[in-house]
Amino acid sequence: MVNIILFGPPGSGKGTQATRLVEKYGLMHISTGDLFRYEMGNDTPLGLKAKEYISKGELVPDEVTIGMLENKVNMHPEAKGFILDGFPRNIVQSEALDRFLSAKSSQVNALIALEVDEEEIVKRLLHRGKTSGRKDDSDEGIIRNRISVYKEETAVVFDYYSKQDKAYQVSGIGSIDDITNRLFNQIDPLL
Ligand code: ADP
Repeated sequence: MVNIILFGPPGSGKGTQATRLVEKYGLMHISTGDLFRYEMGNDTPLGLKAKEYISKGELVPDEVTIGMLENKVNMHPEAKGFILDGFPRNIVQSEALDRFLSAKSSQVNALIALEVDEEEIVKRLLHRGKTSGRKDDSDEGIIRNRISVYKEETAVVFDYYSKQDKAYQVSGIGSIDDITNRLFNQIDPLL
């Protein structure tokens, strides 16, 4: 399996770019944010639990998130590998992912971080909030909270994979096509 973590702050373009990577590399896209939104849309127990945290811009507890991710991977034994978008978001999740993949004789091949500065992110998310229907995108307080959670808990995931020599940075500013090409240029030599 080939597993790539698409990394970066909220609003950095992970979802958009993940779709492009899936097309080119034939991997499966798993977005934990999308999985939570699906559960919330169906008012499942998992969705109701997730909503308590997502509506405040906090992380959903690890035991819920890790189990959900592992189930999704286990449901697709035919997959050539995965593009992980929104996971892992802290060190506990990173360690759990490494253990989970290694039990399948697999691993994270690379983490690629989209670099976008904070003011640009706030602008993009407020703009997205006008059409996405996502409540967590329409309130600047919630957006700022997501960014501070990113800085405090998530940014260190880059260092964690950097110690394994697997972390790469790509500028997330520019046209969608330019950014896709930057990602292809990073990933192609790794495969
Ligand atoms: P964004 O990248 O814009 O923050 P996502 O769709 O990735 O949006 O995530 C939306 C929300 O879902 C997050 O703010 C968080 O509350 C929750 N979430 C997503 N992934 C995780 C995760 N790996 N761990 C904990 N919470 C998560």
